[in-house]
Amino acid sequence: MIKFLDLKKVNDAHGAEISAAIQRVLDSGWYLLGEEVSSFEREFADYCGSQHSIGVANGLDALILILMGYRELGVMAEGDEVIVPANTYIASILAISRAGLKPVLVEPDERTYNIDPNLIEAAITEKTKAIMAVHLYGQCADIDPICAIAKKHGLKVVEDAAQAHAATYRGRKTGSLGDAAGFSFYPGKNLGALGDGGAVTTSDDQLAEVISALRNYGSHEKYHNKYKGMNSRLDEIQAAVLRVKLKYLDEDTEERRKVAEAYLSGLSSQSSGLILPYVADYGTPAWHLFVVRTPQRDQLAEHLKQNEIQTVIHYPIPPHHQAAYPEFSGYSLPITEAIHREALSLPISPVQDLIEIKQIVTQVRALCE
Ligand SMILES: *Cc1c(COP(=O)(O)O)cnc(C)c1O
Repeated sequence: MIKFLDLKKVNDAHGAEISAAIQRVLDSGWYLLGEEVSSFEREFADYCGSQHSIGVANGLDALILILMGYRELGVMAEGDEVIVPANTYIASILAISRAGLKPVLVEPDERTYNIDPNLIEAAITEKTKAIMAVHLYGQCADIDPICAIAKKHGLKVVEDAAQAHAATYRGRKTGSLGDAAGFSFYPGKNLGALGDGGAVTTSDDQLAEVISALRNYGSHEKYHNKYKGMNSRLDEIQAAVLRVKLKYLDEDTEERRKVAEAYLSGLSSQSSGLILPYVADYGTPAWHLFVVRTPQRDQLAEHLKQNEIQTVIHYPIPPHHQAAYPEFSGYSLPITEAIHREALSLPISPVQDLIEIKQIVTQVRALCE
């Protein structure tokens, strides 16, 4: 069986160092917001090319805390609007709702699956306060035109970088491309912990200050609560593990690129309507996922399963068809709907055996040619 993602193998690659890091925390007797977290925050901010990073409990909270931070600073108020790609993972949209703001869905570019900058201005109203740029599947959204629109209209740009650690846009890393970014360290993400974790990066000193309090009951000083905060802390064990894995992130990303290249060269010559990932010339993807599209998606998934190859659909139901969002149920978003009908993710990871990629390519071609 070729697994979609062998997380044990991913972490075993650095097993001894991870064990030593966990032991270090055990020996220290300090478990939350200590030296491991502050060291990781420094290292991750430096990695991203950002002034600050704030460790939090998960990626969803990272996005919520950015928006709550802007609310505390008076940049946004209840009911204000945030533009977000309609085909994103639902967490981006949930974060906007949770922060008391209104998500405004915009269709993606059909090739990159990221928000189409040409459709943003039509969605801007007097209540719009931010654009959430999601770097979906690990490829950067086209950030320069997005930032230009934001600047023209006085909006913030929030990156949802949960799938795109280490991806670059014109040589710049995610986490430094907008006003603030939310990252997830969910185990399956490109920089994954051994449980939940997340971070905000920003070069805005005031926002960083507010968020570092908001994640800890709204308090910088114990028992002095400046804001109505939440408990969303990164723990010392996860931070210690992430410090190990951050050292290998560039190498791991390189391994993902090799897998993607093997798929692209193996699948490019066929002519059956299989749509391969499009790599825009403005950046290098982090290849969180390798997503192909075909109208025969369900047959392809079944064929691969019969041949002992696991695949996953990202994502089967578009956010506007989710029960959580009845207010969007009447929307017609044809590009988003087509992506959700046709997308299939093939195995990819830093420890993916390239021989297996050959087998997968052979089986995809057997069905799609
Ligand atoms: C995973 C993910 C999140 C949420 O991260 P969690 O750590 O699972 O809360 C947000 N946005 C996108 C695009 C994601 O893929």
